[in-house]
This record gives sequence, C-alpha cells and structure tokens, in this order.
Amino acid sequence: MRKKYFIAALILAFLLPSCGGGEEYRKTREIMGTYVTITVARGELPEMVVRGAVRDAFEEIERVDRLMSTYKPESQLSEINRQAGIAPVKVDPEVLETVRDALDVARRTDGAFDPTVGPLIRLWKIGSEEARLPTSAEIEKAKELVDYRQVVVDEPASTVYIKKKGMALDLGGIAKGYASDLAVSLLRKRGLTGGIVAVAGDIKFFGTRDGGRPWKAGIQHPRREGGLLARLEPGDAAISTSGDYERYFMKDGVRYHHIIDPATGLPARGLISVTVLSKESYLADGLSTALFVMGPVRALAFARAHPEVEALMVTSEGRVLATGRFSGMDIEAVEADN
Ligand code: ADP
Ligand code: MG
Repeated sequence: MRKKYFIAALILAFLLPSCGGGEEYRKTREIMGTYVTITVARGELPEMVVRGAVRDAFEEIERVDRLMSTYKPESQLSEINRQAGIAPVKVDPEVLETVRDALDVARRTDGAFDPTVGPLIRLWKIGSEEARLPTSAEIEKAKELVDYRQVVVDEPASTVYIKKKGMALDLGGIAKGYASDLAVSLLRKRGLTGGIVAVAGDIKFFGTRDGGRPWKAGIQHPRREGGLLARLEPGDAAISTSGDYERYFMKDGVRYHHIIDPATGLPARGLISVTVLSKESYLADGLSTALFVMGPVRALAFARAHPEVEALMVTSEGRVLATGRFSGMDIEAVEADN
C-alpha cells in the first residue's frame, strides 16, 4: 500500500510543474486506500464556488468508497457478499450502476475482467501483510467460486444477488474509475470549465486549463520509480494504468501481483503495465485490468478491434505495444525482467 502512495505522488509531481504558475486550485485527500487529487481551472468562478465544488466532488468519491468497499463491513457491497446464496440486496443506484458496468466489461472481455474474483483476492491477500502463496488446492477451490454469470442485477427492484454461497464481488478493478467519472460530472454541473480527478492511476480529464491550454499527463514507467513511460495531452478523456509494480510480493525470484487471471487463479503473466485511454473512466479502469489479464496477444487484438479505446502496454520482455494515439509516440525503453 505504501508503495502505491509513493507512485501516485510521483505521477502528481509530474502534473504539478506541467500546470505551472499555480493558478489552478488543487486538493489531495486520502480515500479508497490511496491518494485522490482534484485539480481545477478557476475560470471566472468565485473562489467559494470552486472550493465548494471540489469539496463536493471529494464527497462523491467518499460515497462510492462507503458503498462499495470490500474493506468496510458496513458497505452495501459487503452486504451483497454476506447475502450470497441467500437473498437479493437492495442497493443505491450507484452500486447498481457499477455492478452493471462491471458485468458488462466482464462479458465484453470474456471474463478476463471478472468482478467476482473476490474469493481469489481474499485468498492471495496481495497488498497486505498476510500475502502468501496459496496451495494449488486452495486456488482450485477459490476458482470455482468465480463466475460473473452468477450475479443477478434486478433494475426495477434495484437489487443485486449473487446466486452461490461463498462467492463475492470485488469492484477494486473498476470503482476508482467510476468514482472519478462521478466527480467530474459533478464539477461540470457546477460550471467548472476544466479539471483533473486522479484516483491513484485512474485519472479523468475535462475541459482545459485557464487560458484554454491543454492538460498534460504522464504515464508511470513500470520499472523506474519516478520515471515516465510517455507523456500526452489526453483532452476530454480518462486514462487508467494497471501495473504489476504497485501491489506485489516476491518469492523465489517470482513477482506475485494483485491482478489475478480468473482462468488460472494466479497473477496474470505476460504484461507488466497496461494503460487504457477512453472517454469514460470506469471503462478505462475495467479494461486496463482486463487487458492486463488477457496478456500481450489477446490484449493487442482486443485494442485493435475496439478503436474507442487506445492502449499502451509493456510486455514482460520489455516490448512496447501501442494502439490509437499511443502508436507513433515517443516511448521510453523498458528493461526486461521477471
Ligand atoms: P489498481 O486497483 O491498482 O488501480 P486495477 O484497476 O488493475 O489496479 O485493479 C486491480 C484490482 O482489481 C485488484 O486489487 C482486485 O481488487 C481487482 N481484480 C484483480 N483481478 C481482477 C480481475 N481479473 N477482474 C476484475 N477485478 C480484478
Ligand atoms: Mg482497473
């Protein structure tokens, strides 16, 4: 976790000088187990309006965390998990929407993204002190409890139901993106003309800086702390990066990280960093996790077949794969490793 804070801070350290002059209004808070930074152009708005909007945008993100955290026993998501195999749970519209979006990404990626990875996440505990290598029997058992097709969303009744006992939803691969989408729509509604909402590596950009200048983004280099892989001007878009360098442990020279392939029950192999750019942040977030799981061959084919998403990926051999505006960009070299 600590390590992740450091990386989020580094990405922002890059954004800071690029914003220059200090005329933008910026605040950072700790939410969802990470740092959230909101930066906005002041435009012609009174200071009070700007501050109020940013405060309420943070509140949106905090609300998503309260509703959907698996670390909070009182969250609606925890209740859905406790009621697995027992009964549907009535939820707020935001939970319904995120679960629906997550299932949609799961279907579109053939289950590479699967929001029911909960039992595998609980087993590996990667990112916590108790992280350890499970036995293959444990992995097999947990894998049987992963299947997004067992989740029923009843829109008119506003309920979510997991059909099988022991199964569990985990929205860690999509909730940060969803939260930044919500925060940006609130800022827009309040009349702000430009800003950045960064929930760790899930960053949504809108409008421009004061004076109409574009926002700039830096993508974290997966093997050089503080280094950048690439820079770009995203425009009105979201960028999400999933990497194997944020939450992991090493054992016998092998890196075990937090993105799990539901097909094997093991940390996904083949890619070390995946950045997805798309209009919406929930989609960039869900797909960066999904492409990571797919591995280089399938992920590249998927990105090429979906021009609405653009991808920048690094393989474990250090090869860079790029589509859309990432292709033809200046990309830093990555040294091969494990
Ligand atoms: P981060 O949370 O570090 O920004 P991601 O967006 O890639 O990175 O999400 C990783 C999180 O998603 C994991 O911590 C876990 O909660 C969840 N997750 C892991 N593997 C999968 C998967 N195959 N499908 C959906 N969610 C996953
Ligand atoms: Mg993700």
